[in-house]
Amino acid sequence: MTLIPVDGPFREAVIDLSAVRDNVASLRARIGTPFFLIVVKANAYGHGMVPVAQAALAGGATHLGVADVAEALALRAAGITAPVLAWLHDPREDFIAAVTADITVCVSSVEQLESVARAGHAAAVRPVVHVKVDTGLSRNGVSADNWASFFARAAELEAHGSITVEGIFSHLSNASAEDDLAQGVRFDAAIDLARAAGLAPAITHLSASVAALTLPQLNYNMVRIGIATYGISPIDTQAPQEFGLRPVMTLRARVAAVREVPEGTGVSYNLTYRTSATSRLALVPMGYGEGLTRAASDRGPVVINGQRFAVSGRMAMDQFVVDCDQADVAVGDEVVLFGDPANGHPTVQDWAEATNTIGYEVVTQLGGRVVRTFIGA
Ligand SMILES: *Cc1c(COP(=O)(O)O)cnc(C)c1O
Repeated sequence: MTLIPVDGPFREAVIDLSAVRDNVASLRARIGTPFFLIVVKANAYGHGMVPVAQAALAGGATHLGVADVAEALALRAAGITAPVLAWLHDPREDFIAAVTADITVCVSSVEQLESVARAGHAAAVRPVVHVKVDTGLSRNGVSADNWASFFARAAELEAHGSITVEGIFSHLSNASAEDDLAQGVRFDAAIDLARAAGLAPAITHLSASVAALTLPQLNYNMVRIGIATYGISPIDTQAPQEFGLRPVMTLRARVAAVREVPEGTGVSYNLTYRTSATSRLALVPMGYGEGLTRAASDRGPVVINGQRFAVSGRMAMDQFVVDCDQADVAVGDEVVLFGDPANGHPTVQDWAEATNTIGYEVVTQLGGRVVRTFIGA
């Protein structure tokens, strides 16, 4: 349990960086691959990219992963020198800034490969690339039809000293263990074909959180861990604690107003909620402006002064109401939406279930006027 200062901003996401460090260290010990990439894309799933990246490296990450080159450059601008992979590119991207900043560019097409080689010539550096192959997810990655011609060209560019193909990777669907294992078989075929073409990728990686925690035979020598870093289970039926993980984010606010109302009082837009007794209503200053989904209307769990309640009526843009029954609630009291169950808080998973989504979306959407406070650095 981590103690969080009692007096915080009006709306606050408290990010416990000691939990990031501990989660990464315990995942690395459990998974055991020599290389260990932590994914910090999308502002570290809403947690704050640079502080989370630093904590992940302190916990034993060897590599960082992001989607866009711009995210990778932001890590470099913050002074982070660890290897950074970026894998989703604007078609107009010229990669010159990326290769100059020693970003490992992940390429999914021969056009990207050529563009990175050109950038290397222009910047007088030898870019390090990882090749992404599609093995069944049908998103990014070189498709199987083009593997042979792609690898031949990559080997040619490597032989000319234009690039170094350090890695080859793919991404899983998580549809089922069978589907993921079938992708593993196709991935092995791609690696064989790359080697036959004369490439010698030192790093091979396939699994993200789900497979890294459940299918160790797919670990290769690196895994790419996103959601588990944040103490959120990637598997609906298993709590993060079962994997030795601790939640990183506590989302809280301060009660903005309290009102005493009689039985039958309608609450918030469309009056979808009516009090069933004389009640005390607490006004909480967060809404879909902060990324809380409107699906939390009449559902999202909260804890006020140690007691569990739910959003009462519609979630609005800036605020929602909680019927606290007769509980002792005052303006300025702390309202926790989710945090560590060890502290008696609802979890991200509770919010995801209440709002019919997944934990990834709950934390990544968070924004607006929420202030992020970092503790445990
Ligand atoms: C987002 C992402 C990951 C991380 O996935 P998690 O399920 O959060 O662990 C890994 N690899 C790629 C290519 C990704 O886009």
